[in-house]
Formats: sequence, structure tokens, C-alpha cells
Amino acid sequence: MHFRARASAAAADRALQAKLSTAKALFVEGRRRAVAEIDLEATREASRAIRDTCVADLDLWLERFETEATRRGGQVLWARDGAEICRLVTEIARRHGVKKAIKSKSMLSEEAGLNAALEAAGVVPVETDLGEYILQINGNETPSHIIAPAIHKTKEEVAELFERVHGKPRKTEIGQMTREAREVLREHFLSADMGISGGNFLVAETGSVALVTNEGNGRMVTTLPRVHVVVTGVEKVIPTLEDLATLMRILPRSATGQVISNYFSLLTGTRRPGDSDGPEHLYFILVDNGRVDLLGGDFQPMLRCIRCAACLNHCPVYQTVGGHAYGWVYPGPMGSVLTPLFVGIENAVDLPQAATLCNQCGAVCPVKIPLPDLMRKLREQQMERGLRPPGERLLLALWGWLARHPRLYAPAARLGARYLKWLAGGGDRIRVLGLAPAWTEGRDFPAPQGRTFRELYAKRQGQ
Ligand code: SF4
Repeated sequence: MHFRARASAAAADRALQAKLSTAKALFVEGRRRAVAEIDLEATREASRAIRDTCVADLDLWLERFETEATRRGGQVLWARDGAEICRLVTEIARRHGVKKAIKSKSMLSEEAGLNAALEAAGVVPVETDLGEYILQINGNETPSHIIAPAIHKTKEEVAELFERVHGKPRKTEIGQMTREAREVLREHFLSADMGISGGNFLVAETGSVALVTNEGNGRMVTTLPRVHVVVTGVEKVIPTLEDLATLMRILPRSATGQVISNYFSLLTGTRRPGDSDGPEHLYFILVDNGRVDLLGGDFQPMLRCIRCAACLNHCPVYQTVGGHAYGWVYPGPMGSVLTPLFVGIENAVDLPQAATLCNQCGAVCPVKIPLPDLMRKLREQQMERGLRPPGERLLLALWGWLARHPRLYAPAARLGARYLKWLAGGGDRIRVLGLAPAWTEGRDFPAPQGRTFRELYAKRQGQ
């Protein structure tokens, strides 16, 4: 989890930034246009309220979901952590004699390292989301974005990869490459015994799972094989179909700038007599993996997250360093909060610092998660537990003491401003920041100009 080292390398990678800027333009501009069509603030507030309602009574809604899903032929299983997900899925595979499992995108399967566990159990996992497929055939690379996993790859890189792996003449058009991947995947769709999907939402009143996709692979994964396994977090449950309708007004708009995704599936129960497709066996693996510990605490709002990625797309840090720098499954601002909570704050010490606290993420979050506040809380915990470098702790302790002594703060601030002006040598930029030189390793620092805030404030009060 060495964010600093990875981020430094990524920040110097101009090619990566060019790829990220294309995606940024697409998603940010798309969202801006799509949300202009709705009463954004009212929809965000309604979505926040729905998610808060679910999280406040999570146990009740999960029990209701279990009852309804079981009534319709599904089986609900519970997993405490990644190891239990792997154990449950491989047991199901063994029970049903599964040799090949096709997968639709599931972040929890990434959290658990499910593909490796399936392979170890003799089951061939095949990713069918195009981005995930590209990463899998490129040596099980990890995703760099939660909804566009291969965002860090160019068309040319994918063309070269397909030529090498598929052994077919190189294609140059995206449409041709997609068709080629579809042909390869079609055989897997038709020969797999098990489909594994995530779930965007679980609807308690009907025991259904809602899937939002753009490629149609989700529908094939969930309806063609005889066994379907849904692996998703416990916090994904919502009470009613009406709540789902509200959330679907904001999810695709926030994620890809679409009014509605190309495919929206609401899957309920196993195949019934007369149905033309659908699984004979349906399992829901509902996962904790650190989520339940967040209930009732400062970080409970994080359980509202609907994994839309708007916070990533709008984050100046993510736009510069991309997703791999964050070192685990979740990148961007949501990852800077979730990763320390899930893997331990001591294992991700740089991540709460991986933000400028500009609040673009908080402003666009469709369920109003106060991401900068949560990062600030994590920073507080790091300080309390002595996880930050001694120099930083000393500096902040000194600043904290001064801030509580206004008579000393004013002359100290004047002295500090004079020192910074001296470092700038009369110019408006500081090339090496004396006591904190790391700040200016890759950029300069603006020198203070004109009067201090306190001087301006005193003048205005006088007026
Ligand atoms: S934190 Fe908010 S903006 Fe970020 S992925 Fe979750 S719901 Fe979307």
C-alpha cells in the first residue's frame, strides 16, 4: 500500500495522464449533461434518505430479503470475509460439478481474490465484462477504475494484446475488436456451468437482484448457466422497487452520464416451468468483509455508496495518478476512505492523505457521502495512533498550540509569511520549501502575496 511511491511514478507517466484525461472528459461532461435533466438536489437527497434508511435497519432488510429470495427458490449464504466467499463459491462449484465459471463484473470478487481460488479448485474463471476480460488475458492485471477497469489501456495496446492472445490478424477499429472478443466469449457463455455476478442492488420486498451493465454480458452470465451465484455486500439491500426506481434515476447519470444504462436486469428467483431461460440453482452470497463494523460509527455514511465512480472521475488526484496507485480494489476518494477501513488504517497510511480536500467528490456524490470529512477523520485517527511521520506530527502539534493562542498566532503567522517571501527571493513562486522540501519535489509553491488574512479582516471590521 505504498501510495506515495506508486503515485510518484504514475504522476510522471504522461501517457497515462493522456488516457485518463480522455476518460475524464467523457464521464465528467456526460454526467454534467445527464444530471441537468433532473432536479439533481432533490434526487440526491431522496437517494441519500433511501440509503440511510436501509443502513439504519440493515438487519431487518436483510432478513426480509432472505425470506423473499428463499421463497422464490434462491438460497442466501453469508460470508464474513474474502476467505469465506472463496470457500462458499468453490463448495457450490464442487456440488454442481462446475468446470467453467463465467463472470460479470463484481468488486467483491476482486476483494476476495476469487479467480485464484476458483483456479485452485479446478474451475476455469472467465471474465466477460470487456474491460475485465482484457485485464484477465493480460496476465490477471488488476482494474484501475471501478466501472471502466481497463481505462489505463489504449486502443493500440488492446489491439496488440488481442493479436497475441487470440492469434488472429490485428484489428484496428474498436468495433472490430469488440466483435472479436464477443466471438471468443460466446463459446464460453455457451459452455459454462456457472455464472458469477455482483449486484448493484438487492430488493428486499421481492428478493431480487438488480444489475446495471452496458455490454449485455451480465444478462448472459445470469441466465445461461444452470447455476447463478450473486456475490455482493450486505449494504446493497434496499427496501422496495420504488426505491430502486429513484436510485436508478441517479446511478447511470452519475456513473457514465447515461439516462439509463444499455442493460438493466432485475433477476428474481430460479427458472420456473415454462421459462425459456434462467438458472436452475440461485445462490446469494452476502458479504460483510468489514462493512458491519462501520455501522453506528463515524464512517457509517460510507455504507451509502452505490459504486458509481463519480468521485473518481472528478478527483484531481485520481485524474493524475490513475487507479493502480491506490494499491487495492477501490481507487479515488471512495478508495481513500474504504481501503483503510477494510484493510486497516496502518496498512494504508498514505491513502487518507491522497486528496486535496477540494470537495469535488463530496459535491458530486449522488448519495451525499461527505468524503473529505471522512478523510479528515481518518487523518485524525492516524495522528492519534502515531502513524504519521514525527516531523509532521510535531509541526501540526505546534500549529495546533499556536491556533489556540491567538495573541501568539498573529505574530507567528506574520513571521511565517516573511519567511516564505524570503524563500521566494522576491518572486511569486517558491522552488524549494525550506522545512517541507517534499512539497516542492515535483512542483513549485505559491509565495504569499499582499496582506495576511488577519490584516484584511481587521481592516474590513474597521470599515
Ligand atoms: S462515494 Fe459517492 S461518488 Fe464515490 S462511488 Fe460511492 S456513491 Fe459514487
